[in-house]
Amino acid sequence: MPASRIPGRRFLHSPGPTPIPDAVLHAMAQQPMDLADPRVDATIAACEQGLKRLLHTREADVFFYAANGHGGWEAVIENVAAIGETVLVCGTGHFSESWAVQSEALGREVVRTPWREGYPIDLAAMEQALRADRNHAIRAVFVVHTDTASSVTSDLAPIRPMLDRLGHPALFVADVVASLAACPFDFDALGVDVAIGASQKGLMCPPGLSFTAVNARALAHSKDVKAPRFYWDWARRKSSLSYVKFCGTPPINLLCGLEAALGLVFAEGLPTVWKRHELVASAVHAAVEGWREGGALDFLACDPASRSVSVTAITVASNIDVEALRTVARERYQVAIAGGLGPMLGRAFRIGHLGDCNVAMILGAIAGVEAALRTQGIPVGQGGVQRAVQAVARAT
Ligand SMILES: *Cc1c(COP(=O)(O)O)cnc(C)c1O
Repeated sequence: MPASRIPGRRFLHSPGPTPIPDAVLHAMAQQPMDLADPRVDATIAACEQGLKRLLHTREADVFFYAANGHGGWEAVIENVAAIGETVLVCGTGHFSESWAVQSEALGREVVRTPWREGYPIDLAAMEQALRADRNHAIRAVFVVHTDTASSVTSDLAPIRPMLDRLGHPALFVADVVASLAACPFDFDALGVDVAIGASQKGLMCPPGLSFTAVNARALAHSKDVKAPRFYWDWARRKSSLSYVKFCGTPPINLLCGLEAALGLVFAEGLPTVWKRHELVASAVHAAVEGWREGGALDFLACDPASRSVSVTAITVASNIDVEALRTVARERYQVAIAGGLGPMLGRAFRIGHLGDCNVAMILGAIAGVEAALRTQGIPVGQGGVQRAVQAVARAT
């Protein structure tokens, strides 16, 4: 049976996939090209250069995968540590834990720093784990910049100085899937060795394209890691030939979309993009400040300074059925929101606000969510929506 038409637009406020701008959809709506067509190489070059500009790196190579973010994770794991070797995963929530579990499934040893619910990386625990590693068994440190499940953004600035101070040679690997093109990230200045991204979040494209940015040190490191790998192998991808760069046929239509999306980001201007994300996030945070007065809802991210501009996770009282709330929000009010993940399953919902989002869209979404909360009889206090309006009206 065909789904009935939804009048107007359904608001997509999962923190990935995110709404796709029309210009990106149009760029993808074309016939794929023969690999010898010079437009293929031009599009690949534009995507590589655009991502390097976005990541703020001069020297790193960008390697693409026709895969989602988990593919990017797998690429990192296979290139930085051999089977039986160790990586340090810094606890930030469900996404750091998923990366740790994937590393273990691939036969790597994982040292974890604990995640304190609602808080960013525990730098003291990280330092302790690195100090305890006297033989330098830890080959890489995995850090999730914005953990999309906890909606916490961790400050990455102290990590390179810490590694240097301890004289620890581990690679510094940052997952910027949920933060890139939403908030500042500076690959070179942060001293990152490897960054991982994916297409369907701040980059405003459909899912299915991920990448790793790899500096010369990490590339050299990978050549010494004796892990069986082929598709993910960085060294094998280093080539000027598109068929080699992609280990086969490039996902050309996704690349056309990414080229268009990067064009939109740079046309708006990165500082303006970041500011827009801050403004939109401030509206959501203001609404939650109102809702929490009802006593049933609260921020998962405890410290306001670490609340991400990309997504807001909202914890719910134990008697609240999150899935029923999401269904009402989506089916009755046309606002799609996300649920809690991992330890937050059933205990939180999330409003995504990254990528192609403006003030009117977020105010509409907030109103739709508040309507769904009221429909479900969940106490939301007074004035969530008004506070959101005030937050954007006050902003300069
Ligand atoms: C979404 C996400 C991933 C995983 O990406 P998939 O495309 O779902 O595999 C990894 N890390 C972060 C921070 C994410 O937000």
